[in-house]
Amino acid sequence: MIYIIQFIFYLLIFMAGAGIFSFLNVVIYRLPRKISFVTGRSHCPSCDATLRWYDMVPVFNWFYLRGKCRDCGARISPRYPAVEALGGVFALLCIYRFGREAEAIAAFVFLAVLTVVAFIDADTMEIPNGLVIGILIIAIVAWACGLVPGWRDRLIGFACVSVPMLLITLAIPGAFGGGDIKLMAAAGLFLGWKQCLVATFLAIVAGGLYGIFLLAARKKGRKEHFAFGPFLCAGMAAALFWGEPLLEWYLGLYHF
Ligand SMILES: [Zn+2]
Repeated sequence: MIYIIQFIFYLLIFMAGAGIFSFLNVVIYRLPRKISFVTGRSHCPSCDATLRWYDMVPVFNWFYLRGKCRDCGARISPRYPAVEALGGVFALLCIYRFGREAEAIAAFVFLAVLTVVAFIDADTMEIPNGLVIGILIIAIVAWACGLVPGWRDRLIGFACVSVPMLLITLAIPGAFGGGDIKLMAAAGLFLGWKQCLVATFLAIVAGGLYGIFLLAARKKGRKEHFAFGPFLCAGMAAALFWGEPLLEWYLGLYHF
């Protein structure tokens, strides 16, 4: 019996996270197109049919409709249920990692903005300033509420990655985008320097592997760029949950 109640509890957490992230799909689509995402109900981009309320059950609905619009049969990108499922997984991981504490809510809100940043950057190669300001506000609120990490860790986090990125970009123009630098300043203030460093390390490894893959596949020339923001965001999500154990493992490895 207790297992059934636990299962229902975690299913509800997953569905709540997925429901919130289904709204993020709207933001990711509308923000770069300058459409208001507060007003107007969701509709199919192909036939304009307004989605019915029962079409809005996150994740499961896409599978139920086999990835097609109920009205016109147009293909609906699997990215939509994927983003929703990500929200569900993030909600569960936040509860798992931070328990029923304020840190769990702060982490989830932070991850929500990171997800929007990652997808908009992948789509448009730009990170809207409004999203960076959003992260800055989350960081300041978390700081004011006395959540971990402490103010020293946060202030060092603000500069420890953003300043080197800025200096490298001044020396080698175009090395990093201005959006990436601002993102790492704001996010560093939220994460603190330890997680910020781990996140950047993971992003450089993952982005480097992706760059090698692109070169090997001859999809891009040597001088062309790809969006680095999604790698930074993924690195930060990983660091948020596993940054400290990773760092301890890494430092322990060289502790002879
Ligand atoms: Zn349609």
